[in-house]
Amino acid sequence: MTIDKPAMSICQSCAAVLRRPADFGTDESGKRSEKFCRHCYCDGRFVEPFVTRDEMVARVAMQLRLGGLHDCSAFRDVAAAISSLERWREHKSLDPQRQEVPTQRAPRLNMKPGAKGR
Ligand SMILES: [Zn+2]
Repeated sequence: MTIDKPAMSICQSCAAVLRRPADFGTDESGKRSEKFCRHCYCDGRFVEPFVTRDEMVARVAMQLRLGGLHDCSAFRDVAAAISSLERWREHKSLDPQRQEVPTQRAPRLNMKPGAKGR
């Protein structure tokens, strides 16, 4: 039998791993939130409602750095992980730093040979 619930939950705001009951945030009624950690979510509200995704990435990356991880690829992983979380998914389109422009088609120039430069 497979268990459909993942064994490990992660906070949908900061990607922190939620292991112990004390790691989880709380909803309006003080019950455990299954989605967010206690640092992000308390009594049904985000502790920092105005934090942006980029700030969250920077913060988590800083935590990794303090933990001794200085790898640039780790930062990239953090950015990817945070971006995929529920809290930030809808803000994707707002990110001006996203430079994944689909391959630009060069406009075809209809240059007729001989039209120029005699
Ligand atoms: Zn969190």
